[in-house]
Amino acid sequence: MLTDQPANAVIGGGAWMKSTRVNIDTLIDLCDLKLDDISETADEVVIGAMTTLRAIETHPAVQKLADGMLSKASSLILGVPFRNLATIGGSVMGRYAFSDVITALSVLEVTLEFHHAGKMSLQEHMTRKGKMNDILIAIRINKHTGKGYFKKVSNTVLDFAILNVAVHHVNGQFWIALGSRPGAAVRAEEAMKLINAMKQVDEAGVAATADKVIETVSFGSSHLASADYRQALAKTYIARGIREVL
Ligand SMILES: Cc1cc2nc3c(=O)[nH]c(=O)nc-3n(C[C@H](O)[C@H](O)[C@H](O)COP(=O)(O)OP(=O)(O)OC[C@H]3O[C@@H](n4cnc5c(N)ncnc54)[C@H](O)[C@@H]3O)c2cc1C
Repeated sequence: MLTDQPANAVIGGGAWMKSTRVNIDTLIDLCDLKLDDISETADEVVIGAMTTLRAIETHPAVQKLADGMLSKASSLILGVPFRNLATIGGSVMGRYAFSDVITALSVLEVTLEFHHAGKMSLQEHMTRKGKMNDILIAIRINKHTGKGYFKKVSNTVLDFAILNVAVHHVNGQFWIALGSRPGAAVRAEEAMKLINAMKQVDEAGVAATADKVIETVSFGSSHLASADYRQALAKTYIARGIREVL
C-alpha cells in the first residue's frame, strides 16, 4: 500500500503528522504489528519502531545504555502525555533537524532495520537523499556501557533546542555529535579523530577538541539563535561533556 502511490503514508504516533498540512490518501497504521516492544539480544537493545518516547525514557535496558543518555534525551521532549504518543520510528523517519533523540543516537552504534531495504546505519539514513518509501521496523543499538553526556540547550523546557550536544566515551574512544545547529545532527568526525589520537586527554586536549568542533562543524542562524551564539554554546558544552564522561 505504501508504494502504491506517493500520497499513502505510514502513521507512527501521529503527533507530527497531525501538526502538518500534507494531503494523505491512505494512512497505514502499524499498531497491530507488535512493533512497540523493547527487547535484548546478547549484544543489542532492539527497540520496535512503534515504541513511544515515554517507554524509551523509562525502560531499564535503555536506561543502562551509555549512562541512559537516550532515555534522558527522550525525557526532555514536551510532557508525559505527548511522550506516550510520539514514537521513535516517527522521530527517526522524520529526520528532524531539531531532534533530541537523533543527536543522542548519533553517538551510539545504531543499525536501523527496514522492511524492504533491510539493515542500514543511522548515518546512512541521515545522509541519503529524498523520501524513503519503506517501513522502519526496529532500531538496534549496541549494548554500550560507556559514559554518556547529553545536553539540550533551549529557552524553555517546552521549546525546540537551540543546540543539542552528545558525547560518549566507550572502550577508550570518544564519540561527539551536535544537533539543532540548526541543521540535523552530525558527528564531529574531525574532532573525534583529534581526541581519539591523544595519549592522554588533559585540559589543553579538551580545549583543542572543542576548537576543532567549531572549525569543522557548520553552524547557522535561525529565529532561535545566531550562528555565533550556537558556536559559543558548542564550545562550552563540548568541553563540559568531555570532562563529564572522563
Ligand atoms: C509540537 C511538537 C513539539 C515537538 N518537540 C520536539 C522536541 O523538542 N524535540 C524532539 O526531539 N522532538 C520534538 N518533536 C518531535 C517528536 O518527538 C516526534 O519525533 C514526532 O512527533 C514524530 O513522531 P510520531 O510518532 O508523532 O510520528 P508521525 O507523526 O506519526 O510520523 C512522522 C513521519 O514519520 C513517518 N513514519 C512514522 N513511523 C514510521 C515507520 N515505522 N516507518 C516509516 N515511516 C514512519 C510518517 O509517515 C511521517 O512521515 C515535537 C513534535 C511536535 C508535534
